[in-house]
Amino acid sequence: MLENMNEKCAVVGIYGHKEASKLAYFSLHALQHRGQEAAGISSSDGLKLHTIKDRGLVMKVFDEHKLTTLSGASAIGHTRYSTAGDDSILDAQPVFARYDLGEMAIVHNGNLTNAEEVRNALIKKGAIFQTFMDTENLIHLIAKSEKEKLTDRIIDAVKKIEGAFSLVFLSRTKMFAMRDRFGFRPLSLGRLPNGGYIVASETCAFDLVSAEYIRDVEPGELLIFEEGKEPISIKVFEPTPKHCIFEYVYFARPDSKVFGQSVYQTRKNMGKELAHIQPVEADIVIPVPDGGVPAAIGYAQESGIPYELGIMRNHYIGRTFIEPTQEMRDLKVKMKLSPMTDIIKGKKVIVIDDSIVRGTTSRRIVKMLKEAGAAEVHMRISSPPTTDPCFYGVDTPNKDKLIAANMSVDEICKFIEADSLAYLDEAGLLRSVHAEDDKYCTACFTGKYIV
Ligand code: AMP
Repeated sequence: MLENMNEKCAVVGIYGHKEASKLAYFSLHALQHRGQEAAGISSSDGLKLHTIKDRGLVMKVFDEHKLTTLSGASAIGHTRYSTAGDDSILDAQPVFARYDLGEMAIVHNGNLTNAEEVRNALIKKGAIFQTFMDTENLIHLIAKSEKEKLTDRIIDAVKKIEGAFSLVFLSRTKMFAMRDRFGFRPLSLGRLPNGGYIVASETCAFDLVSAEYIRDVEPGELLIFEEGKEPISIKVFEPTPKHCIFEYVYFARPDSKVFGQSVYQTRKNMGKELAHIQPVEADIVIPVPDGGVPAAIGYAQESGIPYELGIMRNHYIGRTFIEPTQEMRDLKVKMKLSPMTDIIKGKKVIVIDDSIVRGTTSRRIVKMLKEAGAAEVHMRISSPPTTDPCFYGVDTPNKDKLIAANMSVDEICKFIEADSLAYLDEAGLLRSVHAEDDKYCTACFTGKYIV
């Protein structure tokens, strides 16, 4: 039950700004692509925490009036992305609790790999849980810690959890930001124009609120924000970076810098590498929007084949991946993407996407391009075959649903009915993100799990 919770999400924290909840709202808006199921903000006015959370997009959950009730100079926020079936409002974040030191709210991006174990141990000792979220474990661990200060209790608690976590905690007077020792999920620190601070999953949130990027929260680092002080840094764990390479491939927004690099640039590099190792003669290069756009630009630049927009995307519908049943997913793909017949008709087309998961999208796209009159359709994927599920926060299906775990590239090519299919290889992917050392988690492509 627990392993489905807290999939790829967004977190944000604002400290030291009189309109903290509004800035959190704008930041969540910029981070909406990381989760569309639910959104929430907790603020502190110094005496009390206020929380609003609900199902739906950030714009739907909040309005001017609600934000006014979220008063105070600090606020944390969350957008939730989870697999279907558990859309209970209880599972939206922030997770809020009263305990012996006062009030506390937590937001979490990532997956705890020992969640079940920790929860069972807590339940044995009499703890009562309200949600299925692994994040709730933290509340109990903090509340039960025998340490006097919240900082020490947080340290105590995070030492008992394993897996991927980028966390932001809010108490009545302080804010804390923490990243697991591997730095699986991103978390960056910035300065607000008035001197306050922001932490957020991606720097595209900083741009919206005119914050200046300072640095990433380090893997294993706890940052403490207190009034009138510079953030205090505590090294809780020895850092052993294993950043999620899929942030570069698909998840992060191209205008963000994650793990210190421009997402757009790394994606363009993937396209260039792909053109290099998987060339094919064609008339045009087109992206599957929006994910395939930067890689298609890179592919076109490297190959000299003209870049065109051959598929239009309807932006007023959510991500297709979210829907639970195959039937719904098929329908949503049709609603979402339509061909530019004039551009495609009679052409040999290279179509670029960032990844193939179940194969539904690619199959539908090839069919659509053929129906629009494409002479040939060559599918190129700007990452290696997705062969293994993620346990650190990306919402990938079980291995039996991952097409590349069950079919060879030739078989997938036949299944999607393309004239050819080729993927970027692991070496090309690593070159694209300048991974000179071993600091990325590539488990979804290699099955080499870290924890
Ligand atoms: P599929 O139809 O299952 O093969 O899904 C492939 C499409 O989903 C690609 O266009 C990807 O851009 C996109 N995608 C890949 N990973 C994810 C994810 N974790 N969540 C949502 N969409 C994804």
